[in-house]
Amino acid sequence: MRALLCLILICSSTFAFAKAPADIYPAATVAVRAEKLTAHSYYIPGMAGAANTRNQGFMSNAGFVITPAGVVVFDTLGSPSLAQEMVKRIRELTKLPIKRVIVSHYHADHYYGIQVFKDLGAEIWAHEAGSSVVGSDAAKQRFEQRKEILGQWINDQTQRFPAPDVWLSGDTDFELGGMQFRVRHVGPAHSDEDLVLFVETDGVLYAGDLVFKGRVPFVGDADSKRWLNALEKLIALQPKVLVPGHGGASDTPMEDLTLTRDYLVFLRHEMGRAVDELTPFEEAYEKTDWSRYEKMPAFLEANRRNAYNIYIQMEKESVSK
Ligand SMILES: [Zn+2]
Repeated sequence: MRALLCLILICSSTFAFAKAPADIYPAATVAVRAEKLTAHSYYIPGMAGAANTRNQGFMSNAGFVITPAGVVVFDTLGSPSLAQEMVKRIRELTKLPIKRVIVSHYHADHYYGIQVFKDLGAEIWAHEAGSSVVGSDAAKQRFEQRKEILGQWINDQTQRFPAPDVWLSGDTDFELGGMQFRVRHVGPAHSDEDLVLFVETDGVLYAGDLVFKGRVPFVGDADSKRWLNALEKLIALQPKVLVPGHGGASDTPMEDLTLTRDYLVFLRHEMGRAVDELTPFEEAYEKTDWSRYEKMPAFLEANRRNAYNIYIQMEKESVSK
């Protein structure tokens, strides 16, 4: 019985492996390349800007780690065609099976390639807060939008959204091929379900959309208090290399993390004080000393709106106190 089971397992993994090189989806024509970060860790750098037919929806990063026992993947890019290219890059480096995929969060640019990995037999892990997104009306609307924007790259014929094999309820550590991995739930911050992956053996942190490098971040409607908690959790991991969800990898992650944290703390402090003293936003903004941040990239585009969003948040927080 045990022998039979082994045989079935071997057969199924051989079958899964044999399927990998064939092009099932239209071949992406953008350059999907893998960049080596450390002994085992790689990332796929996405292009800049919003999704369009020129970048074919390739505007977010993904990562993978080759252990002696198989491959761990972090995020699956923005379409099955892009994920297919990513699998090819992995296959150029190793013939070991792709064992596990961690979904950072359920935003289209990060998980639309998921079915490609599922079909190869990888086990998909995501945080349970994402279960309200998968199959939801909001997700369906997003899909319709995506089809319109991306034409042939996203369509009803090719796109599926397999549910994860494991819904995580919190932080989880695991080992593969003698390498130590830590999955941390850091949401709700950028999204409710935010997961990051820390490859302890390599000191590499795949951080999803929580960290911005060398620039003023876009706060958007993110809850800055929770975002700060998430950043503290990432800082505690003491990463040596950080791969953000968008933009290049960083070998000064502690600087990037503390910069984003300090900026948020500063905004909350200044705008919080203005709210306490009943100073109108415009006046508070003019009075604030921005000299520490005003020379940084994206300051002009982002700072005023960030300050305003935080001002509104601090008003809400002071009402609910
Ligand atoms: Zn996102």
